Amino acid sequence: MTLPITRAEVLELDAADELAGLRERFALPEGVVYLDGNSLGPPLASTAERLQRAVGAEWGGELVRGWNTCGWIDLPARVAARIAPLIGAGDDEVAVADSTSVNLFKLLAAAVAMRPGRPVILSEEENFPTDLYMAQGLAELLVDRARLEAVPRERLWESLDRQVAVLMLTHVDFRSGELHDMQALTRAAHEAGALALWDLAHSAGAVPVDVNHCRADFAVGCGYKYLNGGPGAPAFAYVARRHHRGLRTPLTGWMGHREPFAFTGAYEPAPGCARLLVGTPPILSLIALDEALELFSGVDVAALRRKSVALTELFIALVERRLADHGFRLASPREADRRGSQVSLAHPEGFAVMQALIARGVIGDFRAPDLLRFGFAPAYTRFVDVWDAVETLQQVMSTAEWERPELRIRPRVT
Ligand SMILES: *Cc1c(COP(=O)(O)O)cnc(C)c1O
Repeated sequence: MTLPITRAEVLELDAADELAGLRERFALPEGVVYLDGNSLGPPLASTAERLQRAVGAEWGGELVRGWNTCGWIDLPARVAARIAPLIGAGDDEVAVADSTSVNLFKLLAAAVAMRPGRPVILSEEENFPTDLYMAQGLAELLVDRARLEAVPRERLWESLDRQVAVLMLTHVDFRSGELHDMQALTRAAHEAGALALWDLAHSAGAVPVDVNHCRADFAVGCGYKYLNGGPGAPAFAYVARRHHRGLRTPLTGWMGHREPFAFTGAYEPAPGCARLLVGTPPILSLIALDEALELFSGVDVAALRRKSVALTELFIALVERRLADHGFRLASPREADRRGSQVSLAHPEGFAVMQALIARGVIGDFRAPDLLRFGFAPAYTRFVDVWDAVETLQQVMSTAEWERPELRIRPRVT
C-alpha cells in the first residue's frame, strides 16, 4: 500500500473495503474512534433487542420451562460450535463456560494429570498475569506434582526438557502484540514429550488460528474481546479430540456430568469437552455472545486478517510520518506477520497521553509501565479511524494537552 497523503484518500480505502458492511451492524457511539476492542468489543445493534427478548418473552414468559422450550440447556454447545471454525477446531472440540482464567485452571490440571512425573508448567515471564497466577495457584494445590517455570521468551526453546508437562503460552502478546509461532512451538513441545496449551484471548476473531493444523492440545480464549460478547462474556476452551477420553477436569460440577438430571451420587463425566462445564451456564451472557458470533458467519477469517494488517500498517506508517519528534517508540513488531491486531507505542508519559486521547474520543488503553495500546478490530475499524486517531494524537502532542493535571488520575481499570 502506498501511504495516503490526505484524509480523502483514506476514505477511498474505506469505500473499497470488502468488509465495510460489518461495521453497520455495530452500535458504536457517534464521534468516537474505538481502538480498544482487544479489551472489550462493542455490542452489535441487534444485541440489545435480543437480550430484551431473552428477558421478556423467554425468561419472563417461559420461566423455568425456558431451559427446554428456549433451548437454553443446549446454548453452551451451540455457541461453542460458532467459535470452533474461528480457531480451526471441530464443533465437538470446544466448550463455552466460565472465564478464561477458570478454563486455564481446568486445562492445566488436565494436562499435568496426562504427564505424570513431569511437574513443570512452562511459560514465559511476560505472559498475561492471570495465566501465570492460575498456574501458581494450581502448583500450590498440587504441591510437588506441579510447578510453574516462567522464563524469558528467548529461553523457551531450551527450557523444553523432560520435566515439562505442558507449555502454556499466549498466542498474541497482550503488551506488544507480538505473535508466537504456534505451529513451531507446539511441535517443539511435542518433541520434548510435553503438551501445548495456547491462550487465544487476543487472537480469536482477529487473527487466523488453526489449532488442529498446529496440533495444539489445548486452548482457551475470551468471549468479550474480538468476539464482542459483552463485559465478562463466557470464555471458551478447546481440547483436541485425541485427548477427550483421558480428559480429567478438577472442577467436577453437575453441568459437566453425563446426566445432570439423574441426580446420582457419583460423578461421571459427560462425553468429551462437555465435561468442562461446571455450574449452571450464564444464559443471558451466552445469548449476547451467541448474537455477537452471528457476525462471523460467512466471514472469511483471512479477509479479516488482510484488513487488520492493512490497518496496523497504516497506523505505524502515519505515526512515523507525523509523530517522529514526540518521543514515541514502536513497541510492536514492524513485520506484519509477527504482529497481531494491535499496535503498541511506548512513551514515558503514556498514561496521560492516552487519557488526553480518550478525552477527545479516541479510545485505546494504557498498559504499565509506559505502553499506549491501540487495537484495530477489523470487523468495525475504518481506515479513516486510523487517520483520525493519528491526527488527534498529533494534536495532543503538539499542544502538550497531556500535561493537564486531571489527566494523571488513575481509575481502577486502565
Ligand atoms: C484478557 C485476557 C485474559 C482474561 O481472562 P479472564 O479470566 O476472562 O479475566 C486471560 N488471558 C489473556 C492472555 C488475556 O488477554
